[in-house]
Amino acid sequence: VKIVEVVSFTEAIPLSRPYTIATRSIESVALTFVCIRTQSGLEGVGAASPSAGVTGETSATCAQAAGAADSLLRGRDARHLGALCRELEALQATPAARAALDMALYDLFCKHLGIAVVDFLGRCHQELPTSITIGIKSTAEALEEAAEYVGRGFRRIKVKLGHDYEADIERLTRLRESLASDVALRVDANQGYSVEQVVGFEHVVRTLGIELVEQPLPAAAVDALGSLPESLREVIAADESLVNEADARRLAGPPSACGIFNIKLMKCGGITAAQTIARIGQASGRRLMWGCNDESALSIAAALHAAYAARATRFLDLDGSLDLARDPAEGGFVIRDGMMRLADGPGLGTRLRRW
Ligand SMILES: [Mg+2]
Repeated sequence: VKIVEVVSFTEAIPLSRPYTIATRSIESVALTFVCIRTQSGLEGVGAASPSAGVTGETSATCAQAAGAADSLLRGRDARHLGALCRELEALQATPAARAALDMALYDLFCKHLGIAVVDFLGRCHQELPTSITIGIKSTAEALEEAAEYVGRGFRRIKVKLGHDYEADIERLTRLRESLASDVALRVDANQGYSVEQVVGFEHVVRTLGIELVEQPLPAAAVDALGSLPESLREVIAADESLVNEADARRLAGPPSACGIFNIKLMKCGGITAAQTIARIGQASGRRLMWGCNDESALSIAAALHAAYAARATRFLDLDGSLDLARDPAEGGFVIRDGMMRLADGPGLGTRLRRW
């Protein structure tokens, strides 16, 4: 199964619903797509959405790394999956480009086998609910958006916080009052709180029944997380603090810094690296959350394959493709009443229209 060509392209895609988080506002994304072809006519596809603020990878360095992959993979045997994915560790500075190539190799390999990637990895989940995210906005706008999402069947709402502590609590309180009890609220402060604010937030978590609190403190403040009361640490999910395997080992403790790992393929470098982090998390008793950037359905599907093959997976936050104004990829998964299911079909189960 000889690889004869690796091609890539990068496309700027506007968001149909631009949004604001604690650190910035987002209106469009530049996504890089890769396709690995074999002599026999098989194709493995992947997609990248770099998170510059978290990993330092820009859309330019991502596209460049994907473009250079032809010389790395051409002539190699796609059945040597483990060796090829290990060699991609060389792309440490561009984890999203690495993720696109890594998922494309899994796609190709599993198409060759004729099975889904999740079944190759070892499926242990069929269906879980995903959250859908409300950016930082006024209480009235947040209530309106939440009602729309509940109307579309979602039962997990993630609320972005971190600009104004008092306004955050007011907005959450009103959301909790307006939503039915079967709708769970989770929050993400994107590093926007101080230690004092987080300690005060424990009361909010308890009285409003907040499901989890993502990255309340700056990424480097891992020791400060470790000093928080255990009941609070249990519901804290590390996102910006958890990029790679070394971060996972540090967060796992002792002392444990958080109860939940938010794993994103675009931070760590793909399915191979995500599996390592998932195993560290599981072995240390963490619950796993699978998150995303604004991404193609192709890379969201890849994250879902990895998520459903990890026993400790408890939370999905894989809404990243829903607001793309267009997506060169299709298929991969379906969302019905907020529940995510993988599509049938070998590999990642997606198709790129461009090629
Ligand atoms: Mg986050």
